[in-house]
Amino acid sequence: MRGGTVAVVGGSIAGCAIATAAARAGADEVVVLERTQGRLQDRGVGLCVHDERAVELGASGALPEGIAAHRLERRRWIVRDGAGEPGGRVIWEQPFPFHSYHWGLLWRGLRESVPDSVVYRQGETVTGVEAAGTGGAEVRLADGSAERYDLVVGADGYRSVVRAALCPESRPHYAGYVCWRGNFDAARLAELGSGADSVPEAVTTVCFPGGTCVVYRIPGPDGPRVNWVLYAPPPRDGQLRFDDPTSFPPGGLTAELARHLAALLDREFPPYWGRALALTDPADVFVQPIYDLETPRTAAGRLLLAGDAASVVRPHNTSGAAKALQDATAFAEGWRGADSVEELLLAYDTARGPAGRELVALARRLGRAQVEQTPAWSAMSGPEMTAWWQSQLAGAASIGGQAMPR
Ligand SMILES: Cc1cc2nc3c(=O)[nH]c(=O)nc-3n(C[C@H](O)[C@H](O)[C@H](O)COP(=O)(O)OP(=O)(O)OC[C@H]3O[C@@H](n4cnc5c(N)ncnc54)[C@H](O)[C@@H]3O)c2cc1C
Repeated sequence: MRGGTVAVVGGSIAGCAIATAAARAGADEVVVLERTQGRLQDRGVGLCVHDERAVELGASGALPEGIAAHRLERRRWIVRDGAGEPGGRVIWEQPFPFHSYHWGLLWRGLRESVPDSVVYRQGETVTGVEAAGTGGAEVRLADGSAERYDLVVGADGYRSVVRAALCPESRPHYAGYVCWRGNFDAARLAELGSGADSVPEAVTTVCFPGGTCVVYRIPGPDGPRVNWVLYAPPPRDGQLRFDDPTSFPPGGLTAELARHLAALLDREFPPYWGRALALTDPADVFVQPIYDLETPRTAAGRLLLAGDAASVVRPHNTSGAAKALQDATAFAEGWRGADSVEELLLAYDTARGPAGRELVALARRLGRAQVEQTPAWSAMSGPEMTAWWQSQLAGAASIGGQAMPR
């Protein structure tokens, strides 16, 4: 396919990758419309990408070279030990072939690789999208103006405006629990003295009744940081509502949720890990309700969805960034093989629709097993943990996303 105008709504991980793919593929004009005014990198938290996905995405050009990453090799599952071992007791270890990234540094690497021909406009909030009579799609902006493009890509995250136009029936579904996440300077671990062997190459998963907490190192702009994500239900008698994605501001840590977190750390965590998480500056603790969402279609008319706009996968699967970059790879491949926008959209939906739905289903199983219906962790043997893990995968090769078909 040659030429054409493309608007990408959202300029985060998926948006930068898709804009790059469209420009490299030969679109005449690519515009990114990002509502954020300031620096997106201020959102910095950790995420991981499976090593095999990183190799594939490096080869396709979707993951630029040279972005700081920290190698992780093993994952230890630990419980608070009745005998009082400060670091807890390891109940299972498994391979964990991932690299961890700092969100802001990953975004910066993707943003810097967006070709100069792409116009990246910040402070542009898209309020709606609809088919244009002339065969394209029209984007409406917050200032009341409208712009027409041959193709509009929704890379606008879990509350996507473009998805509302393409799949009005699909709405994020609240999983019934939230995550608290935070990060702090890894050098501060020295304040705790000894008590646990916080091996930098290992991910630690603290297991407790009704939840889990994943802790790992990430690179940071000023040196290594410790990143953690704790999944558990919110206070039962609390006043907060999470059932609708608009009911809770992203990131909001209320006094009630801060107290609940402190009580959880005190009651359920091995002392070392409770004290480690308490090193986090309260300004660096965020709360996020966990949602999932699958869409019946990822492209139709002149609209296409990528990243979290196309499917919201519970984070247990550690696949969100890789999936967004795979979407951009599929977009580029679809463009190369298509003679028209219609052919591009069909090829993209055929490749990415089922992949997204499978990820959502796998992450739901992971969430059920690791938060909603946790086993009696302390009684689990190694072989029982292995069988428990395999039952979550249910035939999938691993977490972290699947290889793209060649
Ligand atoms: C706790 C947690 C842990 C995670 N851990 C991992 C992990 O380990 N590994 C992993 O791969 N992934 C992880 N993820 C997921 C990953 O961060 C996302 O899936 C990935 O970044 C894809 O994001 P995106 O670009 O599609 O959407 P987003 O990053 O949400 O970006 C959407 C963009 O669109 C903009 N926007 C929204 N609406 C509009 C509008 N109307 N007009 C204009 N702009 C708009 C927003 O400002 C934003 O910049 C995790 C997520 C969470 C919450």
